[in-house]
Amino acid sequence: MLSNLTLDCEALNTVLDGKEIQKQECYELFELSQNAPEELFKTANVLRNINHKKIVTFSKKAFFNIANLCRDTCSYCTYKAEPGESKLSLMSISDVKVLARLAKKFRCTEALFVTGERPEQTFQEARDWLKEEGFSSTAEYLIHASELVLKEGLFPHTNAGNLTKTELAQLKKTNVSMGLMLENVSERLTEEGMPHHGAPSKYPKPRLAVLQNAGELGIPMTTGLLVGIGETPYEIIDSIFAIKKLHDKYGHIQEIILQNFQPKSDTLMNAHPSAEENYFKTVVALTRIILPQMNIQIPPNLSPSSYQSFLSVGINDWGGISPLTPDYVNPEFSWPEIKNIEKNSSKAGYDLKARFPIYPEFFDFVNSDLREKMAELNDGDSLVKEGYWR
Ligand code: SF4
Repeated sequence: MLSNLTLDCEALNTVLDGKEIQKQECYELFELSQNAPEELFKTANVLRNINHKKIVTFSKKAFFNIANLCRDTCSYCTYKAEPGESKLSLMSISDVKVLARLAKKFRCTEALFVTGERPEQTFQEARDWLKEEGFSSTAEYLIHASELVLKEGLFPHTNAGNLTKTELAQLKKTNVSMGLMLENVSERLTEEGMPHHGAPSKYPKPRLAVLQNAGELGIPMTTGLLVGIGETPYEIIDSIFAIKKLHDKYGHIQEIILQNFQPKSDTLMNAHPSAEENYFKTVVALTRIILPQMNIQIPPNLSPSSYQSFLSVGINDWGGISPLTPDYVNPEFSWPEIKNIEKNSSKAGYDLKARFPIYPEFFDFVNSDLREKMAELNDGDSLVKEGYWR
């Protein structure tokens, strides 16, 4: 028995008894919660506090917008640039070095590397950029850039789409963790007129295969779901269970990001409504109930007026927050200042702590060289020393 709380809902009492909830029970819970979400939210809150105490974490990062050309097209994306657009970013290695040095001055710990999906497969501009920098692929560039920022005292976390197993293995040497959003496991969302139709890399099978390869390689992975893109609640629940299945097998999913959809004016989905807050909270709470110990993150900039209320439905992390670079994936939504996040977390009853781009319980996944480098900034609990990040 994890808690003395007794609820009317039998399935939730089972979870509080420390047993796993089944998919069918989650479908039913979702339906029940439409009118009365209180018991679901309360259970998620209890599980969150048992597993993560009164702590909420974030990662102090710099966002390296390495290459935003992309061979795919998702109907909601504003990150992707076209050649000639003013937002086009193809960072030179010397740009990476300059930003890394600045990020170190700001006492960031994470270097978040983001690229579109294999830009060199479609764009001559990307091939020229790589050639000029002395590389033949984006992955090769990222391997070099990771080594570079590590030398500058930052810890890389690469999110570059569907990397091959060989590429993942190379990047594992320098990246303390890596990221790949599953988005959703539904094939329906890849059909004509649906958000992932133009993005073969987002089709569930190849996406799950990359997460599986990362599991076989023992790479701590951040993954997550995009909530409110036209999925059914059952597809969201199926997606959470798909992540659970991988994690049950490999134990390598360090974090699930739940990102609420926000329409962008210059996209095909500009008229699609943003994710409704209660629906989003139900998804957060269900994720906590399906994976009680998981690290669950929502990006605070996408719920600017209510993010702290998500602490009471199961989240325990605010993700990467940058004091110096914008969120290039959601540039319309600037990150709240770290001191405001701390104030609002504290008002909700939680202490803010800075983590590395790898969660404490995953330190054993990385090589001793990386662990030694983190040791200088480690507070003893595998979080970042307060005196460093403040
Ligand atoms: S794969 Fe990523 S960068 Fe490419 S269009 Fe989709 S969301 Fe945008």
